[in-house]
Amino acid sequence: MGTRLYLVRLGEISLKGLNRPFFEKKLKNNIKTKLRPYHNMVSKQKGRLFFEIDESCSREQCDLAFSTTFGVVGYTEAVRVQKDMDKIKEKVREVLANSTFSNEGSFKVETKRADKKFPLSSYEISCELADVVNESFPDLKVSLKNPTHTLYIEIRNSTYIYTTMKSGPNGLPVSTAGKGMLLLSGGIDSPVAGYRMASRGMKLECIYFHAYPYTSDMALEKVKMLASKIAPFLQGTRLHVVGFTEQQLWIKSHSEIDETTLMFRACMMKVATKLAHKYDGTALVTGEALSQVASQTLDSMAFTNTTTDMLIIRPLVGMNKEEIMRTAENIDTYKTSILPYEDCCVIFSPKHPLTRPDVEIENAHYEKMGIDELLDKAVEETVTYDFFANGKEKLYSEEEETTANLEINPLVQE
Ligand code: ATP
Ligand code: MG
Repeated sequence: MGTRLYLVRLGEISLKGLNRPFFEKKLKNNIKTKLRPYHNMVSKQKGRLFFEIDESCSREQCDLAFSTTFGVVGYTEAVRVQKDMDKIKEKVREVLANSTFSNEGSFKVETKRADKKFPLSSYEISCELADVVNESFPDLKVSLKNPTHTLYIEIRNSTYIYTTMKSGPNGLPVSTAGKGMLLLSGGIDSPVAGYRMASRGMKLECIYFHAYPYTSDMALEKVKMLASKIAPFLQGTRLHVVGFTEQQLWIKSHSEIDETTLMFRACMMKVATKLAHKYDGTALVTGEALSQVASQTLDSMAFTNTTTDMLIIRPLVGMNKEEIMRTAENIDTYKTSILPYEDCCVIFSPKHPLTRPDVEIENAHYEKMGIDELLDKAVEETVTYDFFANGKEKLYSEEEETTANLEINPLVQE
């Protein structure tokens, strides 16, 4: 059985000094996980990874693997030929015949000569190959600035030829920057918050607070759908579902109506912190954005911060709703997020929540609620779902090793 060759462009990773092998290895493994069970071979060159993938692995699966793995800047199918101009020209003719090149528009040849010993300069290679392009497409004019078609040539250990370059998600490979717990609601913001932190290499497990029957089974299904949609970017994830009905009712009957949202958030943070300790998380991640809703004022966030000793990361805090929505559309969570099932926060939230809480007063009110035991119970009764890196749900088993497969960068640690 034959193989297909893929060339992967790396960005920020290539700039890492001594840490580079660590990031490259992670990236390689993150991609490989998504190509299972097909056999593939990987080789590495400056700024590039090359994958030779079993032909029976569909192009869709390959596309999904490369387009959702952080650290990939761009990728393409490529062909390889010896570093000999006649052989290169012959191969270019073949590649052009199977490409989207046509007589319409303009073209350029972009040559990268990584092997400085190759006898021709990049300019000379481009000129010779431009003639080859014009043999097949005599009407095509050269345009260096804004070409319709591009023929890419890379002279390295071999010559690599390709005519497209698809975009990857950039960023750093997941599991190179520790683990965080993402508070995932059914809304637009939190999946985007998870995506953003994963793009900086953070491994994430998700936590959802579910108040059945005030929030329906459909609301839970929606959150599971969102977890599965972001799972490829997160390299697989876990969703911890915390039953929160009793706790919410307790909050409602033991606090002032305008405080319920604050108290709810304090309880969420405390439970999330306990789960973080249980699953080795170092930070909590939320989808809050400053002033987006009444509960997301600076004072409310400052209060929430006092309810946990864990780092709370709010990657969207300075983003506008339109920007967040655009990302949600790009990662295909938007349509799911706007399905109508209410999340528990909305159902219990008062018309006029306290927007300028006094930290000391609210902490005293929290203590007075006497809810800690109920929160421990919520942690104990948490139900967990696992999602593979391809988005599929798998049955959770306590004994099985976590999908996280967390490895701390030895060099970063020092
Ligand atoms: P989102 O669009 O992410 O739901 P939102 O604009 O609706 O956010 P809030 O409901 O105030 O804002 O929630 C702010 C953040 O708190 C969410 O982004 C999420 O991280 C967390 N959160 C809220 N409700 C829940 C929940 N039921 N389960 C888990 N996390 C939640
Ligand atoms: Mg919400």
